Amino acid sequence: MPFPTPPGPGGGSAPAARYVCGAPVTLPLQLITLALEITPRLPGHPLEVATDLRCALERHTGGPHFDLVREPGRPDSGAVWTLWEEGSRPECVCLLPDCPVDNGEPGGANEACALYEGHPGVHSYHCADPETGGCHPYVYAYESGHAPM
Ligand SMILES: [Zn+2]
Ligand SMILES: [Zn+2]
Repeated sequence: MPFPTPPGPGGGSAPAARYVCGAPVTLPLQLITLALEITPRLPGHPLEVATDLRCALERHTGGPHFDLVREPGRPDSGAVWTLWEEGSRPECVCLLPDCPVDNGEPGGANEACALYEGHPGVHSYHCADPETGGCHPYVYAYESGHAPM
């Protein structure tokens, strides 16, 4: 999905700021196990599973929230995501392919979208996270809740 262009010429104003949804939820214990078992050929460690989750999609008014719970560590393996409806807890995890889009910048400025293929809203590098200043939900969750000290 291409990044939508700002509305028509003549306005002259910058496009409205876009923010991640950030809806918080805690991953239920049984889904931690499931997040590891979903990739039997890529075994993982429970500490790899993010449990303090925040929806990584662009702010939305309908549909489920999504967040990354585990990256099996192979570029072609996709990542493990969970989803939940507003007001309820996650009930499943699923293995989704990575969003193949990056921002097209060369070298160190290159940033790949951190979401899954076919996600709604804009790509992750287009939306700001007022809480972390970035858009890396997995890193955020890992550092905030599971520092292996
Ligand atoms: Zn959300
Ligand atoms: Zn994307």
